[in-house]
Formats: sequence, structure tokens, C-alpha cells
Amino acid sequence: MSKEEKKIILTGDRPTGRLHLGHYVGSLERRVELQNSGEYDEINILIADDQALTDNADNPRKIRDNIINVVLDYLSVGLDPEKTTICVQSALPALHALTFYYMNLVTTARLTRNPTVKAEIQLRGFEDEGLPVGFFAYPVSQAADITAFNANVVPVGEDQLPMLEQTREIVEKFNRIYGETLVLPKAMIPENEMQRRLPGVDGKAKMSKSLGNCIYLSDTSASVKKQINGRMYTDPQHLRIEDPGHLEGNMVFTYLDAFCKDEYFAEFLPQYACLDEMKEHYTRGGLGDGTCKKFLISILEEILSPIRAERQKWEADIDSVYDILLAGTEKARETTNRTLARVEQAMRIDYFANREIVKEWEELLKK
Ligand code: ATP
Ligand code: MG
Repeated sequence: MSKEEKKIILTGDRPTGRLHLGHYVGSLERRVELQNSGEYDEINILIADDQALTDNADNPRKIRDNIINVVLDYLSVGLDPEKTTICVQSALPALHALTFYYMNLVTTARLTRNPTVKAEIQLRGFEDEGLPVGFFAYPVSQAADITAFNANVVPVGEDQLPMLEQTREIVEKFNRIYGETLVLPKAMIPENEMQRRLPGVDGKAKMSKSLGNCIYLSDTSASVKKQINGRMYTDPQHLRIEDPGHLEGNMVFTYLDAFCKDEYFAEFLPQYACLDEMKEHYTRGGLGDGTCKKFLISILEEILSPIRAERQKWEADIDSVYDILLAGTEKARETTNRTLARVEQAMRIDYFANREIVKEWEELLKK
């Protein structure tokens, strides 16, 4: 079977904090489904510590500490190291080399147009402070990650679409210049609109580690309750229970859109059969915010409590977690080194792959 025919996944996360509900609905839940579907030849998950350093160069400790948090989150949601390769970016030198070569195929004007990077530059205050070149170029390094694993499927949240577009452009340009070498990848994003970009509990556009508006997968029940009861924005015009409520911008309903399944009604709120019925009652008036929040808390508890329990088990055995990471990284090193060799061959810079060039140089000098 050729590389193109294989179904290969690459996806990953920056170890800048523990993983949150946005990661869960945007990407993690799907990864576990894909893993268990048995339809994929390879699933690779990259802990993108190099990328995390591009905006945390002064705080490598934060990245080092969060690698373990991210792996524990993976294992606790059901990613299985027997089926999925979990690896660490900085230990894969082929990725650095590929990034360096791909940088020649991208203009600064093109990178400047990337809307996700643009928003992140603003958020981090890099406009005033100065923009690290590494941060500016991180979409190029993502192209290196994706292509190094020959991935054709990349399950991500919506904010990653511009990165995929950039990767596809690099692949097309590389293949045009150096000959068909790299696999063209496709993004896989959730169909559910709220799951593609889950807002923060404060109603801000995106739940993000960097914005501090998260419910983490490892948060305690008490903390989840506190975030929802204390911080979650509903409808400011819905003062009395009888008043008609509004759904737009109402975070409780946004989260219900992302997390609710019909079966939760039978379990926790049997007066309705489905979310549409509940929404209808809320909009008509007569359904209080307290009841809605309580329902959401029950759903999140149902999702999070097995995750917490699984995390506890792994927390008691960090030696094994280390071994999983080491084995995954060693396997990934072989895969990515093979791609680098193909790339260097295509670019005709594989001088030391064999001694063929000696003959070539001799011929050249005879002329
Ligand atoms: P940081 O603030 O450090 O960038 P982050 O919270 O944005 O962290 P990433 O590690 O950048 O998390 O993203 C990892 C994956 O999770 C990506 O596929 C991204 O699309 C997805 N993701 C992150 N936040 C959300 C969200 N709020 N909703 C849906 N998907 C998300
Ligand atoms: Mg991010």
C-alpha cells in the first residue's frame, strides 16, 4: 500500500496548561472515537512543546510541567497508547529540519494574513512588545508536523483551519518544485457549531488556556459547580422565572448545545424529551436559570467523573506514563526521520545518504 492510501491521523496540543472542555468537544472526544473505530492505520498525537515555547521562551518550566498534565489528560479521556502514538515534539529533530526547509516556501505576507495568528499576536501584546520570529512562523512548523507523519486527516477545532490551509499550500508548492513527495492533508472539524469553538465560561469567543476562562477536565466537582453558578453568563433580561428568556449569547444554552444528548433528559430532567423542548419553554417563560444550570452541571459531572477517576489511576503510576511517552516518541522519531530522508532526497540535498555524489562530482569536473 502506498503512503497516500493509508489513513493516517496527526493532531496535538500545546503543553501550556491542563486540557479543558474546549479541547474535549473540539478534538479529544473525536480522537477517541477515531481511535476506537479501527478505521485508521495510524493515529499520532504530538505534544507541541516547541510550539508552546514560541510564546513562552522565558518560561520553559511551564512547558516542562504541563507535558505531564497533557499526557494524563490524554490517558484519562481514553486515548490508548496501544493504538495511538503519543510523542513529544522537541525530541523529533526531523521536524526542526523540515520547518527550516518549508520556511523558504512561505512569504512573510502570507503568514501575516493568517487570522488565527493575527488574533493571537494581539492577545499576547506582541504588537507592542515585538513579535518573536518563532511565533510568527509557527504555522510553518505545524506544516512540518503534519507532513512528517504523512497525515491525511487532522482532527482539530475551527481555529486551526488557517493552519491546515497553510500546510496544504506548502505541500502543493513543495510537490510542484521538488516532485510528488508530501501527502496533502485535510482538516476534520466537528459538525456541531458550538463544538468547533467552545466559548469560555465568561462568554469570550474561545475557551483557551491563555484566557483563563476554562473548565478543565481535571477540575473537581466543586470547582465546576462554582464556575457555572458563579461565572456563567445567562440572559440579563431574564429576571423572573415567568419572563421570556433569550438563547443567544446565553452560555448555559451554548454549552447545552455542545454537550447535551437526548438521553440526559430521561436521567436528569425528565419533564423534557429533548433540548428543543427545553429551549421552547425557556423562550416562552417559566423555566428558571437555576434549573438550567443544574442540568448542565449534571451533564458535565456525568462526562467528567470517569475522566477524573481514570486520571487518578495514572497519577499513581508516573513511571508508566514516562515509558508510554518514551516509546511513542521513539516510534515517531523513526517515522519523521523517514520523511525527512524523502524530503532531502527530493530536494537533492541528501549528499551523505550514499556516495553517489562522488561520481557526479567527478563527471562534473571532467567537463
Ligand atoms: P493556548 O491558549 O495555549 O493556545 P488552547 O486552549 O488554544 O491553548 P491548543 O493547544 O492551542 O489549546 O489547541 C489544541 C487543540 O484544541 C486544537 O485542535 C484546537 O483547535 C482545539 N481547541 C482549543 N480550544 C478550543 C475550543 N475552545 N473549542 C474547540 N476546540 C478547541
Ligand atoms: Mg491555541
